[in-house]
Amino acid sequence: MPLIETNGLTKRYSRVTALDGLTLDVEPGIIGLVGPNGAGKSTLIKILLGLVDATTGTAEVLGLDAAREGLRVREVVGYMPEHDCLPPDQSATNFVIHMARMSGIPPSAARERASEVLRHVGLFEERYRHMGGYSTGMKQRVKLAQALAHDPQLLFLDEPTNGLDPQGRDEMLDLVERTGHEFGISIVMSSHLLSEIERVCDGLIVIDDGKLMRTGRIAELTDETAVLAVEVEWDADRLADMLTERGLEVQVLGRELEVAGGGSDGVHDAILDAVVTLNLPLVRMERRRRTLEELFQPGADGAEASNGAG
Ligand code: ADP
Repeated sequence: MPLIETNGLTKRYSRVTALDGLTLDVEPGIIGLVGPNGAGKSTLIKILLGLVDATTGTAEVLGLDAAREGLRVREVVGYMPEHDCLPPDQSATNFVIHMARMSGIPPSAARERASEVLRHVGLFEERYRHMGGYSTGMKQRVKLAQALAHDPQLLFLDEPTNGLDPQGRDEMLDLVERTGHEFGISIVMSSHLLSEIERVCDGLIVIDDGKLMRTGRIAELTDETAVLAVEVEWDADRLADMLTERGLEVQVLGRELEVAGGGSDGVHDAILDAVVTLNLPLVRMERRRRTLEELFQPGADGAEASNGAG
């Protein structure tokens, strides 16, 4: 069963078209929802949760109609909103128990579940403190914990790294990845940063101005380039000199060389021959993949819109 299926999904506010005929077919996994601010990411998530009605078009989540079966959708889906929604005078434990109880979980099971999810997000020690004294990173983690409280099959995370410093971002991204794997659930995570999505997601939905720009598995989108990345333990410069003497086009990036023409056996053999001649320990030699950022640079081959299911 697809995770999410939309057909011609359009949302108009009085003056703005937030979503414009979005047709999607998304398979389970950790999915990145990317687009600049105002692209329509939050609107899409709210429609999928059944919290906002579409103007036209349909949306299904885990086979449920988001407009007609919103309550049922919210039983099987967890939601981490973008903005702060935490009562400052409550402890994380009380808040997560409350959220679990609201989803119909009995009191003792709700307490157990709250402990489990707060431990998972790394807040077990601090769970009885009032959240008003929490850092931004801790607040983001409570928001993630409450989204997990009712044991959902799918999580929507709206800009989970918002407001975090680089270390906080790293920790949150690791946590998102672990959550997907440890709980065995699918995650849709919105972000305006392609590098974040590339790091943790297997699938990608790119929207801009309410329209679908691209969707698919990241491994398929970031295809191999004709550049060979060659890493040696030491003496990358000597190797580069030898390859340049032999007529190859080489760039040195620290311990790594990038050699053009990686599609040809001749280039491959020439590199191996030079590595053996210089007696260098070869760490790795592989075709470099394009990064998502390269893919979406203006003028890149694949940067034009490719509407359609994926
Ligand atoms: P994103 O999450 O990608 O930043 P949003 O879905 O929040 O984008 O917004 C998409 C567009 O819809 C923006 O132009 C925004 O101003 C507009 N919008 C969102 N919610 C409302 C609303 N309740 N009323 C009017 N316009 C809205």
